[in-house]
Amino acid sequence: LDAPLFADLAGDAQVSFEFFPPKTEKMEAQLWDAIQTLAPLGPRFVSVTYGAGGSTRERTHATVARIAKETSIPAAAHLTCVEATREEVDAIARAYWEAGVRHIVALRGDPPTLGEKYVEHPGGYRNAADLVAGLRRIAPFDISVAAYPECHPDSVDSQADIDNLKAKIDAGATRAISQFFFSPEAFFRFRDRAAAAGIEAEIVPGILPVSNVAQTRKFASACGAAIPSWMDRLFEGLDDQPAARQLVAATIAAELCRRLYAGGVRHFHFYTLNRAELAFAICHLLGLRAGKTALEKAA
Ligand code: FAD
Repeated sequence: LDAPLFADLAGDAQVSFEFFPPKTEKMEAQLWDAIQTLAPLGPRFVSVTYGAGGSTRERTHATVARIAKETSIPAAAHLTCVEATREEVDAIARAYWEAGVRHIVALRGDPPTLGEKYVEHPGGYRNAADLVAGLRRIAPFDISVAAYPECHPDSVDSQADIDNLKAKIDAGATRAISQFFFSPEAFFRFRDRAAAAGIEAEIVPGILPVSNVAQTRKFASACGAAIPSWMDRLFEGLDDQPAARQLVAATIAAELCRRLYAGGVRHFHFYTLNRAELAFAICHLLGLRAGKTALEKAA
């Protein structure tokens, strides 16, 4: 792939950022710092995750509501089907609509104990496609769903995974956001297969800037993402060198984005882990420059 140099990028990329709901006041301050740093880049939206088993129901709501109130960035709330009845999930969705939140990231979710088989709640939504259809009945939400360039572990094969994504789009989702991955080719193959299956909705690559390989490996296998062996080599000997690790992390993720850009990608979704530096640096390399618009309300 003939990728342009960073210096030649037109700055026409769009970005979105994912955060998790903070547990403590200190974490809340860190999250707000990250939002204030990233907001001037004018993200299309920011999203807030929903903890396993609905454990962050209130915190997710409070975080999304605060972003909606204090900034002009469109805020999206993640919502899962885990351990909840349809009525409970519907009530959460209605409360979001009433609070002015117009974008839901609709997910099945994972079993409360990692590694166990997923069991549907008897009175709940069966899976993400079922949840999307339920949300559509409640209000005209903008709905994002998850996609897996390297196949979801519960899928019998990659075609079943594409069929499942198609079912989610056909049920009313507007875009898919991908699980993180480190091979641009894997993303392009997935995008081609999705197009061949008649999926026209945008598939936004999820970018995880990795500065701790061991930690990433822990959840990579559970979510169907491969960690290439070159990643270990690039971080070799850097355990006690946090600054160098950050530089290596930014370089790897920026290179991935540059190759995706060369393949036509113009929207990148960053898993920020509530820290701004890496995502900000990568966006800068992609040609984005900070303006003031998105912080109007916060100022
Ligand atoms: P689905 O699309 O419903 O399906 C997952 C897999 O199960 C697919 O492979 C599908 O083929 C198979 N499947 C589904 N239904 C059936 C069926 N009826 N019969 C046979 N096979 C079936 N998790 C959280 O807990 N909170 C979050 O905030 C969160 N945010 C995420 C954001 C993104 C962008 C991504 C990519 C993932 C996120 N996750 C989150 C993780 C997600 O919940 C898990 O990956 C979960 O295991 C699958 O969710 P899904 O929405 O992809 O499920």
